Amino acid sequence: MSIAVTCPKCRGKFELPRHPGERPIRCPLGGHFLQVPSHDSSDTGIQIGNSLQGVPVEDPDKPPHRPAPPRSPFPVQPLVIVLLGVLLLLLALSGSFNLWFLANPRGHFHGAEEARRAEELARQQAEQAKIAAQQAQFLEQQAKQREATLQQRVRELERQVEGLKMELDEAKGK
Ligand SMILES: [Zn+2]
Repeated sequence: MSIAVTCPKCRGKFELPRHPGERPIRCPLGGHFLQVPSHDSSDTGIQIGNSLQGVPVEDPDKPPHRPAPPRSPFPVQPLVIVLLGVLLLLLALSGSFNLWFLANPRGHFHGAEEARRAEELARQQAEQAKIAAQQAQFLEQQAKQREATLQQRVRELERQVEGLKMELDEAKGK
C-alpha cells in the first residue's frame, strides 16, 4: 500500500511504496531528510489532503551533496575530554590520598619509620636503665660507707661507755 508524503522542507509531494516506520527517508525532490509520522497518530503528523507531512530530521549519514566538515583522523575532542577526566580523577585521588596520609600518620606507609622510632626509644630506655643502675650502685656504695662509719662510731661510743663504766667502778671502789 503506497502512501503519499509531503516534504516539510520543499513542500514537494512524493509517494512511497510502503510506510518507512521510524526510519528517516530522503526527499527525492530536494534530498531533504524526514521522518514519516504513523498513519493513525494525528497528533504527530499533519494531514495535508491525503498525504502525510513528513517531520524534518537530521541527516543520518551525511549525503554526498552536502560537504562534510573536515574530520580529524583521530577523535581529538573525546580524547581530550577523557584525558581531562582521568587527570581530574588522579588529582582527586592524590588529594584524598594526601589527606588520608596526613590523617593517618601511623599508616602502614610509616611502618619502617615506626620501627626505627621504637628501636631508638628502646635504645634510650636501655641507656637510662644503665644510668639508673649505676646511680643505684653508687648510692649503695655510699650507704655501705655510711654504715661502716656509723658502726665505727658505735664501736668508739661503746669503748667510751666501757671506759666510763670502769671509771665509775673505780670511783665506787674508793
Ligand atoms: Zn524536499
